[in-house]
Order: sequence, then C-alpha cells, then structure tokens
Amino acid sequence: MAERFDVIVVGAGPAGYVAAIRCAQLGMKTACVDKWLDGQGQPALGGTCLNAGCIPSKALLESSEIYEQSLGHYADHGVNIPAVKLDLAAMMARKDKVVAELTQGIAQLFRANGITSCHGHGKLVSSRQVSIDSGDGQERIIEASHIILAPGSSPVAIEAAPLSGDIIVDSTGALNFDKVPKRLGVIGAGIIGLELGSVWRRLGSEVVLLEAQEAFLMMADQQVARDALREFTRQGLDIRLGARVLGSHIKRGKVEVQYEDAAGSHQEKVDRLIVAVGRMPNTDGLFTAETGLALNEWGYIHVDEQCRTNLPGVYAIGDVVRGPMLAHKGSREGVMVAELIAGQEASMDYDLIPSVIYTHPEIAWVGKTEQALKAEDVPYRAGVFPFAANGRARALGETAGFVKILAHAETDRVLGVHVMGPQASELIACATVAMEFGASSEDLALTVFAHPTLSEGLHEAALDVEGAAIHIAKMRRKN
Ligand code: FAD
Ligand code: AMP
Repeated sequence: MAERFDVIVVGAGPAGYVAAIRCAQLGMKTACVDKWLDGQGQPALGGTCLNAGCIPSKALLESSEIYEQSLGHYADHGVNIPAVKLDLAAMMARKDKVVAELTQGIAQLFRANGITSCHGHGKLVSSRQVSIDSGDGQERIIEASHIILAPGSSPVAIEAAPLSGDIIVDSTGALNFDKVPKRLGVIGAGIIGLELGSVWRRLGSEVVLLEAQEAFLMMADQQVARDALREFTRQGLDIRLGARVLGSHIKRGKVEVQYEDAAGSHQEKVDRLIVAVGRMPNTDGLFTAETGLALNEWGYIHVDEQCRTNLPGVYAIGDVVRGPMLAHKGSREGVMVAELIAGQEASMDYDLIPSVIYTHPEIAWVGKTEQALKAEDVPYRAGVFPFAANGRARALGETAGFVKILAHAETDRVLGVHVMGPQASELIACATVAMEFGASSEDLALTVFAHPTLSEGLHEAALDVEGAAIHIAKMRRKN
C-alpha cells in the first residue's frame, strides 16, 4: 500500500519548501520530495536558491565587495589597511558554510513542522500519485489528495559554448572557481551575468560581458539602465552590447570565443567563460505522458492565476511556471497554494513583485517602468532624487544613483519605484509596502522619514513629483 499524505510537494526550493511548511502549519500531513545533492553527495534542501543561487552569490558579492573596499575605499574614511591579501579558499569556505547553515535550517524547519522529507527524483504518475526514485534501484509510490509541483529551473545551455570542466561553466561553476581568472568572459549581461561578473572583477579579473541584445537591462527602467551601464563601465566591466556569441573552443586551457556584432565578426580570448544566458523550467522526467499535464508554449507548466494546473488537485509554483524567476515570487505562490488547498481564500499580486540586482550600486524596482507606462499610454508624473544630494549617502561615500517615483498623472497613485544606489534592495521594500497599500506620491510626501537616512531619497523623490523636493537645485525634471 502506498503511503498516504494530504499534500505532496515535489521540489524543496524556496517555492516548494515554503509551500510544505505552510501546508504543515495548516494541519495537513505533508511530504516533500527533493533530489538535490551537495558537493559531498549529501541531500541538501533549499533548491537552487540556497545551494547555487541567491545565497552563495550574495555571500560572494558581500565578500568580494569587502575585499575591493579594503583595497582603496577605506582610505577615504581615514582608515589605512596596509597589505590587503585575498584568501579565495577562505572566501569560498565561508560561502559554503553560509549555504550549509541555511540548508540545515530548512531540514530543521521540516522536522519541527512534522514534514516527511523524501530524498530522490519525484515523478507525477497520476493526479494523486508521485513515484520516488532514490537512486538505489528502488522506486516507491506515495499518494495524496493534493500535489504541488515545484521543481524549479536549470541554466540554459547553448551550442555556441558547451560547458567544459572548470573552463566553460554555468552559474554554479562560476560560484566555485578555485582561482581568480586573469581574463573572464561572461555570455549574457542579465542579472546573473552582471552579479557574477562583478564578483570576479572585484577579485581582480578583467571581465568582458557579451550580450546579444542592443539594449542594456531591457526589463529595468531605461533611465536606470543607462546610468547603471555608465557606472559598471566606469568600474571596469567591459560590457559589449549587440554581441552575439556564435562559437567557442578551448585551446591550451584558454577559451577562444567567436562573436558577431554590427561591425562584423570578432574573437576574444579568455581564461574562463561563464554562460549566463537564462534559465529553463525543470520538466524533464517530472511527469508521465499518461497524466496529461499541460505545458505552455514555452515549456513551463501551464497554470491559472492561482497556480492550478489542468489536472484537478495538482498545482505548480516557482520557476517552473510563468512570471519572474525569483525566489520570493515562488515562496508567495507556495503560501497561496497551501492556503487554497486548506480551503482558504488566497491570491497574490503579480504586479508588485520587487526585482533586485545586487551589483554595486544595487538596482531595485517594483511596479511599472517609464517605458512600459509610455507604451501603455498611461499618463504619469515622475519624481527623481539623486543620492548625491542625500546626507546619509554622502556620509557613506555612496553617492551614485537616484530614486525615481512614477505616479499616475490624475490619481497620483504610485505606479512604479526605481532605485539605483546604496541599500536599494532594502529601500524597495518601503516602496513595495506603500504600493501594496495603494499609496499616492502625496502619501509618501506627507510621511516623516528619519534623518539622515537613505530612505529620505524616497521621500524627496515623492516630493519631486510635485516639484517640491527640498534638497534639489538642479536635477529637476518635470513632465
Ligand atoms: P529551485 O530553487 O530551482 O528548487 C527546485 C528544487 O527541486 C531543487 O532542489 C531541484 O533539485 C528539485 N527538483 C527538481 N525536479 C525534481 C524532481 N523531479 N524530483 C525531486 N526534486 C526535484 N532569485 C532571487 O529572488 N534573488 C536572487 O538574488 C537570486 N539570485 C540568483 C543567483 C543565481 C546565481 C541563480 C542561478 C539564481 C538566482 N535567483 C535569485 C533565482 C532563484 O534561485 C530562483 O528563482 C529560485 O530558486 C526558484 O525557486 P524554485 O523553488 O521554483 O526552484
Ligand atoms: P537573463 O535571462 O536575464 O539571465 O539574461 C540572459 C541574457 O543572455 C539575455 O540578455 C540574452 O540576450 C543573452 N544571450 C542569450 N544568448 C546569447 C548569445 N549567444 N550571445 C550573447 N548573449 C546571449
């Protein structure tokens, strides 16, 4: 007899593990099946996010930033550090420790919530059954009245640059180099390419990013994208736009990359190459054809607004379904689905999912970009405030960037907030809360913000929508 649960979750990334915990909190007997193995071949919960994504990349971004700041920036503060030395092995060990503590933390949360954790590859064999292949030749079937599929995504591979050992790597390999490449190529100047490129540039690599699109950071507000491109270029990232990689080959431990741009064909020689051209949903071997689970035209599991698949009782969440491939989007979907299964009302607002790029300066936004509002013919007013005019930013020595607020021209409702600058990832939470509550720019303008804080940038940008920012003399823009 197959073991029975109320809910089975396939995948223990930020979508799946959060769904499993919420199901257990709501009193459901829950199992979670996950196949991830860590570097030592041990099962590790947390999916891509904890093991090879958000967390290790942020650990290395933090460490590499400290290293770069120690090389020069602290002298501005009157702190002289005589001989700064990079210990890459220690930096990597710290990153691995941060990851291990967090993945073990999920295992503890599973135990505390009475969740049955099953290691192995899960496959949907009917709307009520999942088979588990633990790799020991034994396959077992478990059953539940509800199943949540959260298998996540994997890096896209391209024929032009097949992965090869530690020379041509994907994002996972790029988190584990054992020495700093002298010259590093990155294919794709998206969020992951920029973050990983930044880590290795700070640690000493000459970094060339080859990006097929002519426009930089198309999904971001283009005013932010323009300033960011200038800032990253100033830092030394060699970002080549309109550069499509057509081929590569390894010669004596180095990679020759062929690419094409408007000027013709080119060749670039690098010591290591990172392929960061996007991610694709993990649906291989996830379900049998007999289940009839429907995918959409791009290969994602087809779901409605509340993550229901075409099979009754089967839901799908996270990177494997439409929407931004972000951890917090999947986690919110996990909570929503758990509550729906428990018979509660639940929904989520896909228009208010913040995005962050953890470069230096950070870039973060929520809601609409200016170009989207123009394309949709929405009348709007913009308020902008530069961090150069913010006291706290000056004290920090972090004056690049600005806050921009876009508000409806008639209702004044805030439609989008864009931040490039120090702590943008934290500042965007304030904007997201305001927008979640339907705030107008006037609401933000009437709010008292502590001084001196970076959040005053948000306040001043809101004031600037009315042309009433206090600390701007020049950078005034009116629509
Ligand atoms: P995943 O995290 O991919 O987890 C899915 C899990 O399911 C995995 O453990 C997988 O092994 C397992 N699995 C798959 N198929 C099966 C199966 N059939 N049976 C059993 N188990 C299975 N997002 C952010 O929001 N912020 C960031 O800063 C950020 N940084 C990133 C940096 C990098 C380098 C990368 C690669 C990604 C980053 N992301 C970031 C994206 C984020 O990691 C994903 O959006 C998130 O992990 C998706 O969560 P998920 O639960 O849908 O899937
Ligand atoms: P993202 O999807 O945000 O991770 O970004 C991936 C980026 O890689 C996109 O901006 C793509 O345009 C870019 N890209 C995809 N294929 C190639 C290629 N062959 N050469 C250069 N850039 C590419």
